[in-house]
Amino acid sequence: MHYQPQIDLRGGQVVGVEALIRWRRPGQGLIQPGAFIGIAEESGLIAPIGRWILQEACRQAAAWQRAGLSLGRVAVNLSAVQFRQGVVEQDVRSALKTSGLDPNRLELELTESTLLQHDESVMAMLAQWSALGIHLAIDDFGTGYSSLAYLKRMKVDKLKIDRSFITGLLHEDENRAIVRAMIQIARSLQIDTLAEGIEDPLVAEQLKALGCDGVQGHWYSEPLPAAELEQWLKRRAA
Ligand code: C2E
Ligand code: MG
Ligand code: MG
Repeated sequence: MHYQPQIDLRGGQVVGVEALIRWRRPGQGLIQPGAFIGIAEESGLIAPIGRWILQEACRQAAAWQRAGLSLGRVAVNLSAVQFRQGVVEQDVRSALKTSGLDPNRLELELTESTLLQHDESVMAMLAQWSALGIHLAIDDFGTGYSSLAYLKRMKVDKLKIDRSFITGLLHEDENRAIVRAMIQIARSLQIDTLAEGIEDPLVAEQLKALGCDGVQGHWYSEPLPAAELEQWLKRRAA
């Protein structure tokens, strides 16, 4: 697992880390998830991999919490297939139990395609997670089948604005208009916004002016192994 910090735009503090998987393949180095998550989903291997991801991310977050490191919540990406296979409820419960992590310290990232399955049992499960204190974030917001209906059917804590809207923010009026509208919708529903893929401090400034709550991107840090992230946090505090 690698972890990428998420920063609060007003206060500048680290409010969370997103867990991002890589495959260390002997002889081939580090393989990025774009190259294997889709295959894992098709083959059904995403179930054991996803279980391991939840266990590992919760174990690491609990260790950070015990060590007094202020890294906030750990955000874990969930695949729609984990929901379809009906394994995710048990996997989340067991990862929390084994690690002892406070459910308040866990955020689950869902995609629009997961929610569009419109399944009542999924909605009930999400409500149960919310009641436990687990945060729910919508990943890549605005890139899937953007139905706004689920924003009123479930308790969403955070919208993650996709990098494709952020990259051209400074020079493309359309992107700015879309991002502004997303932030306004979220704000009026008391949902936080976090923009992905910030590579330029001017973009962060612009997002702050638009009222975005948080950011994540290479400008702050690339996703790092846990030990390197701890070093990054120390350097930052110094
Ligand atoms: P995502 O969840 O939207 O993750 C954000 C992606 O943006 C990550 O790519 C991250 O490394 C990248 N990123 C962050 N900041 C910047 C930036 O400033 N510039 C650029 N160019 N990229 C940036 P990554 O790690 O390659 O992951 C790609 C996708 O693979 C993720 O998109 C997610 O959908 C999936 N994925 C990654 N890890 C997991 C996992 O543990 N479980 C599942 N189910 N999916 C995962
Ligand atoms: Mg994500
Ligand atoms: Mg995303």
